[in-house]
Amino acid sequence: MNKIKVALTAHTENFSICKEVVPKLIKFFDNLEKETGIEVRVSWMLEQDDMRPYNCEIRSKQDGRGIEQGGKFFREIIASRKDEIGLHIHFTRGWRFDPSPENQERLIKSAYEKFLDVFEFEPKSFVGGWWYSDSNTIKILESLNFKTDASPVPLYKERRIKWLFGKIPTPFKITTCNWEECKERKPYHPSYRNPCIKGNAKILYVPNSVNPTAKSFSAENFLSLDRLKYDFEGCIKIFKEFVDGNFKFICIPFHPHSINDVNLVKKFLEICNNYSKIYFTTLGELA
Ligand SMILES: [Zn+2]
Repeated sequence: MNKIKVALTAHTENFSICKEVVPKLIKFFDNLEKETGIEVRVSWMLEQDDMRPYNCEIRSKQDGRGIEQGGKFFREIIASRKDEIGLHIHFTRGWRFDPSPENQERLIKSAYEKFLDVFEFEPKSFVGGWWYSDSNTIKILESLNFKTDASPVPLYKERRIKWLFGKIPTPFKITTCNWEECKERKPYHPSYRNPCIKGNAKILYVPNSVNPTAKSFSAENFLSLDRLKYDFEGCIKIFKEFVDGNFKFICIPFHPHSINDVNLVKKFLEICNNYSKIYFTTLGELA
């Protein structure tokens, strides 16, 4: 039987919105392993950035940033499981989207320092908020010894984000990175000049699960665990397309706080595992 390696990447966002769900998920993964033998590994990508405007009512009710608030919790997780923790950074300055090299450097370096301070080892993996990563991101990440970046979303066309948290109209222009030219479905070393194509960068780009047969990006072509609750069959279909296309690897992202039914995740993993034996990896292990 075919085998396929799976990287689950959890975009934790503000830790306060997932601090209840993450322990439940961990317990669920531990039980799943006992019941089915499927050893789930997760790369928990902790958010650390400016995305908490203190005058914003919704956010001010939630405490803290990923690393500061989630640090103790995640230290215990990685001590007891073979999971990974990495960084998830939205390139903003307060409210404003600002992917300038200076601002990227400021955010990545301060998150890196905070991470080192709390966990006492270096983060190795990164995923950009709104999937943003560019030539400057690569250079900054490499200077800090990062090994992987799971930001690419093949074929995804640059677009304006109009709502923050699905609720607040953005007062500033926020665009996602332009991955329209990226056709890669396997991890690759990008070109410094154009990260959408292969090149000589040391960092390993890990593309997310866009259906390998898709010619353009659409939500229906993108597999994330968030989607299980409203399109379970669509998710299975994309997984099968990867296996049928003889791909040996798939990176599946999710938001922990979007998982409201762990049984759906269990059913999904069981169906996938029957179709092609799955085994898990973390992003860091790929490099
Ligand atoms: Zn995010």
